[in-house]
Amino acid sequence: MSSFVTGQIIEARCSRCKDVTGHVIMACLDGMPIKVECRACGSVHKYTAPGAAPRRKAETTVRVKAGHGRAEAVEATVKAEKAITRLMCEKPAAEPRLSRAQKDSIRKAEENEQRWNQAVNSIAAAPVPYSISGSFAEGTLVEHPVFGVGAVLELLPPDKMDLLFREGVKRLRCVC
Ligand SMILES: [Zn+2]
Repeated sequence: MSSFVTGQIIEARCSRCKDVTGHVIMACLDGMPIKVECRACGSVHKYTAPGAAPRRKAETTVRVKAGHGRAEAVEATVKAEKAITRLMCEKPAAEPRLSRAQKDSIRKAEENEQRWNQAVNSIAAAPVPYSISGSFAEGTLVEHPVFGVGAVLELLPPDKMDLLFREGVKRLRCVC
């Protein structure tokens, strides 16, 4: 059995030229070339014997589970392959992927905050401290110990009102 040495020129299949070309052995393992440099295109790649078929997508062994048809097994294998390809090709997303519901709630929160900002900025008067027995007019600012400053949107007689806070609209008790 002939043994190869580093620096030796051999014929090998070049993955870039897609042809059998002269290659310089760059590295050997157990007398077999493992890394070669194509003399035609200069690319360095794994050694592929001249007789070997052009490298295609690696074949995947399809394992057929007991009680499962081959079609199912093939489908499962294809799914697994796709998942692996996705994992290898996908760059880590800069932001976590959000569901439509999450996106909606973020958008709503942003819209609400904008609305709240406008409301608070448009009212010149200083906020009135909130009290369950207080009486507030629509369009006044109320300061709540938990929710912060809110604008009275609507009075709901006899004893409730809707207030726009930074985190959303809240219905609170009052004396209308
Ligand atoms: Zn080449």
